[in-house]
Amino acid sequence: MTVIYADNNATTAIDPQVTEAMLPYLQDQYFNPSSMYEVARPVANAIEKARESVAHVLGGIEANQILFTSGATESNNAAIFGTAKANRSRNHIITTAVEHPAVLEVCREMERDGYEVTFLSVDRSGRLNMQEFVQALQPDTLMVTIMHGNNETGVIFPVDELARITKETDPAIIFHTDATQSVGKIPLDLTGAFRYVDMLSLSGHKLHGPKGVGALYVKRGTQWRPFIIGGHQENGRRGGTYNVASIVGLGSACDLAREHRDDEKRIAALRDRLEAGILDRVPQVEVNGQDAPRLPNTLNVACHYVEGEGILYQLSALGICASSGSACTSGSLDPSHVLKTMELPFTAIHGSIRFSLSRYTTDAEVDAIIDAFPKVIANLRKMSPYWDTKTNQPR
Ligand code: PMP
Repeated sequence: MTVIYADNNATTAIDPQVTEAMLPYLQDQYFNPSSMYEVARPVANAIEKARESVAHVLGGIEANQILFTSGATESNNAAIFGTAKANRSRNHIITTAVEHPAVLEVCREMERDGYEVTFLSVDRSGRLNMQEFVQALQPDTLMVTIMHGNNETGVIFPVDELARITKETDPAIIFHTDATQSVGKIPLDLTGAFRYVDMLSLSGHKLHGPKGVGALYVKRGTQWRPFIIGGHQENGRRGGTYNVASIVGLGSACDLAREHRDDEKRIAALRDRLEAGILDRVPQVEVNGQDAPRLPNTLNVACHYVEGEGILYQLSALGICASSGSACTSGSLDPSHVLKTMELPFTAIHGSIRFSLSRYTTDAEVDAIIDAFPKVIANLRKMSPYWDTKTNQPR
């Protein structure tokens, strides 16, 4: 069975050029880059080259502000815990209710530790209320941590604007953004519109790089203390022997993301065609985040009167890989916290499906999804007590 992979917000296929760039460091270039001898020098140089590549994809910032981590989860933990450690006198954090768990759960942990956390809500289209944000800024605010592109809906928050407002209100407040889903998909310029951002998280496996590697940008001068403490790697800012091959892979993935920047338009056109095809052929569906700016590759559709897991199961039988909004956690089918915050009606909250495309997605694959999806939904609705198959409408 041919696989149609439309779950690129979960992870991406590694680019063959990335694998090729990594291979020497899994073979004869095994030296520890921190070693003094001559043969280790090229390995240390490869890490610095990768750092330049990450800096470049973020708008050409100075590379020594990039730390390599084990992924965006670590980057987010380091950003929040490290900021709190360095600024003990402030006690308030602003985030949103729709962050990835790697921010949301860290903020909940901060709450348990006695911090006050404001979880900003979003409207029906996933947008923040700017006035609510401005009102949330307090003299006691330690940091703001707000994601750029949402992993579930693709909704983009105006992080450039939020960071500017934050720093103009109080330059001592530290602004962090989890840009894991945006880096490599759309340009983010930390020397331009995003210059007010103090810290930014990204991850290799979301941009056709390897898993288990990421980066944290910490702007020079930011009041921040290390989170992973150990050896003197990364100038004492992140201990642990360098994951050389993966770091090289991340650098290569960043270079390729810049080379493929123009693919954004083609991917957006494919997504728009998929969206129109589904809206045309399936009654009672809506696009989650329709009225908000969204990542070019992401389509999250809410299908009323069906259940997401059923859709996924049937799509999977046809070789189509997508993702549902609900996560089956500890035996209970909890709807997604993102869609709950967006207040989707109960008839749709369990029936949301995310398709996320990439530069490898083809026209034929989109055609195949447009063909299969209406049949899957019709099949499932046949079984729904809420659905009248005669009128093809809810009862
Ligand atoms: N933040 C966001 C927005 C994500 O989508 C993800 C991955 N799903 C993460 C953080 C965690 O990234 P990693 O897998 O590199 O830890």
